[in-house]
Amino acid sequence: MLEFVARRYDTGAVVRATVADGRWQCFEPSREQQHASLPWLAPGWVDLQVNGWSGIEFTDRELTVENVACVLTAMDCHGVVRTCPTVTTQSHEVLRHAMATLARACEEDSQVADRFAGIHLEGPFLSPEDGPRGAHPLEHVRPPDWDEFQRLQEAADGRIRLVTLSPEYEEAPAFISKAVSTGVLVAIGHTAADSRAIQAAVDAGAQLSTHLGNGAHRTLPRHPNYLWDQLAHDRLTASLIVDGFHLPPAVVKTFVRAKTPGRTILVSDVVGTAGRPPGRYDDSPLGSVEILEDGRIVIAGQRQLLAGAFRTIEYGVANVMRFAGVGLEEAVTMASLRPAELIGLSDFGFRKGAWADAVLFRCSDDWLEITATLNRGRLVHGALSTSE
Ligand SMILES: [Zn+2]
Repeated sequence: MLEFVARRYDTGAVVRATVADGRWQCFEPSREQQHASLPWLAPGWVDLQVNGWSGIEFTDRELTVENVACVLTAMDCHGVVRTCPTVTTQSHEVLRHAMATLARACEEDSQVADRFAGIHLEGPFLSPEDGPRGAHPLEHVRPPDWDEFQRLQEAADGRIRLVTLSPEYEEAPAFISKAVSTGVLVAIGHTAADSRAIQAAVDAGAQLSTHLGNGAHRTLPRHPNYLWDQLAHDRLTASLIVDGFHLPPAVVKTFVRAKTPGRTILVSDVVGTAGRPPGRYDDSPLGSVEILEDGRIVIAGQRQLLAGAFRTIEYGVANVMRFAGVGLEEAVTMASLRPAELIGLSDFGFRKGAWADAVLFRCSDDWLEITATLNRGRLVHGALSTSE
């Protein structure tokens, strides 16, 4: 049994929350009046795009079960309660190893199983064009191949929950229909698709645009283009990287207003290189990358093409309030309930009997300070306030 007091992110009310057997029991109104010092309480973050952390990449021919546990538990102090380990474009052998290792990690390590929201396979079925392809290695980009996907899904023991692909290939609609019929969420991303191909992808069941506005050409026809097509489509939710580097504030604001907060989710897209000192690194799965003095991670030899992010998702929650003028409840929902719903997490949110997955934080203008994280009712980071 666990009891603590905090301010609910949605109502602003100070509540005494009770947890038993890892699940919410109740949220009772608290007598606490001096609540300014109490942290906010929200459902924990669900990050659908984490490539790795602190020198570990999931897309690695030497990935181990220990590596997987390392990355997922490192997310605790950032308020993340569920993660989609993201595996990016590589040879079939490397992808297969990553899938098998992630599956084994879920079976062998309860720390992983508790934090795991399904594998995100981002690639290899992406656009070969420079710009949309981003940092994915050209030699491994290929058209959607259902047989290959099935072999990967088998290696993952059915744990691939999200696949990002480009619908510009003629094989795409059939692939998408099959994936959707097996319960896999399909996202459009790293694409050079035209309006017709985007519509065909949505008709086949695609529901998400992966990091809309990134993984795109440097210049585009003013209209039509794949940004307008995806922005305008009410059946597509958009994931955005709101780290302050991937999209300018005006673009974040415009995208959120076009999609509406209900159709916007936040992802971090953090990569394994994140957290290392500035310099050139040739050991990244995306080839040679460079960490600049300001922390940006770019493909080596230029300054425009970003190769993943280094800021965890709580930055996005703080930034989206500032950039897009949305309130705390909407910003929190974009990083928790909406991604949880998209990926099909059951037992999530503030309901009696749901898993007690929560983040507690203090909020300043441009920063969230995570004070505690609860994962399935266990305090995995920080401390709780128990007094009224
Ligand atoms: Zn990407």
